[in-house]
Amino acid sequence: MNPTKPAARDRLRIAIQKSGRLAEPARSLLASCGLGWRESRDRLFCYGETLPVDLLLVRDDDIPALIADGVCDLGVVGRNVLSEADGVRVASGRRPVFREWRALGFGGCRLALAVPEGWDWKGPQQLAGKRIATSYPALLSQWLAAQGVDAEVVLLSGSVEIAPRLGQADAVCDLVSSGATLAANQLVPVATLFESEAVLAGPVEGFDGVRAELAELLCRRLDGALRVRHSKLLLFQASRDRLPSLLPLLPDAEAPTVMRIDGVDQLALQALCHGAVTWQRLEDLKSAGARGLMVLPVEGMLA
Ligand code: ATP
Ligand code: ZN
Repeated sequence: MNPTKPAARDRLRIAIQKSGRLAEPARSLLASCGLGWRESRDRLFCYGETLPVDLLLVRDDDIPALIADGVCDLGVVGRNVLSEADGVRVASGRRPVFREWRALGFGGCRLALAVPEGWDWKGPQQLAGKRIATSYPALLSQWLAAQGVDAEVVLLSGSVEIAPRLGQADAVCDLVSSGATLAANQLVPVATLFESEAVLAGPVEGFDGVRAELAELLCRRLDGALRVRHSKLLLFQASRDRLPSLLPLLPDAEAPTVMRIDGVDQLALQALCHGAVTWQRLEDLKSAGARGLMVLPVEGMLA
């Protein structure tokens, strides 16, 4: 063994947002993968008790660098933050060191270009020579270059949407979900640069040894949890001759399991439905001949 080389960590460390939009959903998704923790007093570190997987609670902007430096192995972060950090690295001639491992289906938003309400928007060429305020200079610069537009990028770390009113910029490039903040500042979104959601970020290269096994186990469970996140297990009984009317009402179900009960004509069915199982849908199934309908939540799935 090389005495100067520190021993590789045999626990996996995941960085998540300490507080903010992604904090709670990230924790509950990881908890649904069977992870449980003991929290440190300063609420910065959570020690994994059910598996050797610890959490570091940080500002979301710090997550890409924590992965790049190897302080954390994985992170849950907005694709916007990850791609911006990647863009900054690549623009300064450094190689990419992190990548998106999984899209996680929450924290959805888009990076949009917005202009003051009074503008008669005709297209990106109108931005030539203008100042655009943003916290995402790399993503904005990439987009401007792709449009062939030469504009000035004004870097602001927050409150981007008030920049035009303060005379700091002519337009803005900011994250939008409902658009209410833009509207409140008399701005209109005119182009989407980037669609974002929370992602599991990790190194471009995988891990070795125990951490590789832990990361693989985590991804397997995440895939199972994500797959059934909005799914329900539907149980019911019906006579065999009703199947042709019942099955078309289950277009989002994986091939239902059909069991024979009570001779050959009475069946018990179970179907994993990936779409919404509403009361209306249950009533439609009942009218088509289903009996004893039961809807069960699904917590996980291991294919
Ligand atoms: P931190 O203190 O961790 O730096 P923050 O203020 O940068 O927090 P939040 O506002 O909690 O972060 O946003 C975290 C992420 O949530 C964003 O990077 C983005 O991926 C996502 N998000 C979803 N909807 C929105 C939105 N309407 N505005 C901003 N971010 C959004
Ligand atoms: Zn942040």
